[in-house]
Amino acid sequence: MKPLKSSQVDLAIVGGGINGAGLALLAAKAGLSVALFEKDDFASGTSSKSTKLIHGGIRYLEQYRFSLVFESLHERQKLLKLAPHLIHPISILLPCYKTDRRPPWMLKIGLWLYDILAGSSNIARHRWYSAEETKIIAPTLKTDGLKGCGLYYDAQVNDARLVLENILAAEEAGADCLNYCCVNQIDREEGFVRVFFQESRTKENGVLQAKCLVNAAGPWANQITKLISENALSLIRPTRGSHIVMPEVLSQHAVLIMTPKDNRIIFIVPWRGFSLVGTTDLDDPDDPNKVAPTEEEIQYLLREASRVFPGSIWDRNQVLSAFSGLRPLAWSGGEQASSLSREDKIQSEGNVISIVGGKLTTYRSMAEKAMRKILKITGQSKKIPRDLKLPGSIENSWDEFLKKNVPQWISTFKISESQANHLAGLYGQKARDVLALIEKDARFREPLHADRPELSAQVVYAVLSEKACHLEDVMLRRLEIGYSPQRWGSASEKASRLMAEQLGWDETNRLVELEHYRQSLFPTPDK
Ligand code: FAD
Repeated sequence: MKPLKSSQVDLAIVGGGINGAGLALLAAKAGLSVALFEKDDFASGTSSKSTKLIHGGIRYLEQYRFSLVFESLHERQKLLKLAPHLIHPISILLPCYKTDRRPPWMLKIGLWLYDILAGSSNIARHRWYSAEETKIIAPTLKTDGLKGCGLYYDAQVNDARLVLENILAAEEAGADCLNYCCVNQIDREEGFVRVFFQESRTKENGVLQAKCLVNAAGPWANQITKLISENALSLIRPTRGSHIVMPEVLSQHAVLIMTPKDNRIIFIVPWRGFSLVGTTDLDDPDDPNKVAPTEEEIQYLLREASRVFPGSIWDRNQVLSAFSGLRPLAWSGGEQASSLSREDKIQSEGNVISIVGGKLTTYRSMAEKAMRKILKITGQSKKIPRDLKLPGSIENSWDEFLKKNVPQWISTFKISESQANHLAGLYGQKARDVLALIEKDARFREPLHADRPELSAQVVYAVLSEKACHLEDVMLRRLEIGYSPQRWGSASEKASRLMAEQLGWDETNRLVELEHYRQSLFPTPDK
């Protein structure tokens, strides 16, 4: 295990999802000593299982959650500026059919209100198209019973890398962030908390003393409070959301559909050359480690999506992969899962703070709120920093960045335009560091797959500079090439060999890694 900088810190954080990572960065930048523990890989919990939208959440308008929508829309704008390599605007169609519960006038009011709440942070104003016009802008959409269609804007994010960049920036600012390190005991003493942890590979144990502890364990938040007190009340009510990955992009715009039977919404989003379809919303009080989509959920998503894209193939065998995440929603009884509030909640008891609820979109503001409490507890008077640049953040506009760097990378490193654009979009400012590996070893210029832009250098970079320990970390969270083994199966083979070289895996180890990665693409509820 990498030794910690100190065994006494101001702040210990349990959980390396977006909430833990965002807070670690803010606290480290404010000058606090910070240690963060993640039992698996960073973002391997809910934070890489999202619909990958940085959005206001148009459907919350119906629930009169205007302040949540307002806050999210303004955060969206800040994040677009902070990480244009990871977050970019996306257009979303909102078709209205005769069978839908909400008539066109209602949708038009919603879209209008969404623009108003965004104010100067708006990406672009919405438009409304007649049924005839919709056929032109979205020719693959079902036309039968179509009354019209809204078009509005939100943003799409690389969720796993957003978490990772917060972790890497926190480390740059002095924090210790350990993945594959599980907190298994927490003792409260007078004025501090003792945190016991174990490294998952070596089984090495460690202990740390912190002035304040933050429980940012998302769906595992109840388990963490139970480590502190057996009788602790439930903090969260987890609800499961599942997605399927389909092989084709069905429309140049994302589509938000309303399900007539259960009055829910589902997104069909163009994503890395596929369509991401989701999500469901079901209570799931079981062990968060075993969360997985059920066959019923997969069939439900196929059925609902096929209603609006009848010309495409919605066969079960076409599903490339499927994944589920648990929303760590603040506990509330009674209500239907989909009506539960997405608002964040920060609860403190002595020197232990729990942060639950919220969205990827609002992680920065959640971190600021938590930070105010932490400063009170630790008795420090630090300024909460506003400048939270990520390692890939760029100085100028995105277009200027591409214009300046892409041609230069192509000529200097002899890579293709699509490879250069891919590197810019994944690493921003840090792409140059990946390319530096090619200078050292020409083998690293080789693509992982002939049809894909990913370079061998990226696997090596993930191990050397991005804390990747397992094949799954690289395939699904550092690179995202791994969601279609059917098409690009040989890429995992190649990546596993590169990792074996870097990490000293023997052949048995390498094969175990490959098997583990394949299983993670289709987790089943009984596993
Ligand atoms: P997590 O990401 O789950 O992180 C908690 C971490 O704690 C885990 O990695 C876990 O391994 C770790 N941990 C647990 N126990 C321990 C321990 N004992 N020791 C060490 N580590 C531990 N939000 C949006 O803004 N946009 C969206 O499009 C969107 N889509 C969503 C779709 C779905 C299906 C779901 C479920 C959520 C979606 N959300 C979205 C919400 C958003 O993804 C979550 O609110 C957010 O990711 C929660 O982050 P977190 O850090 O609290 O939890």
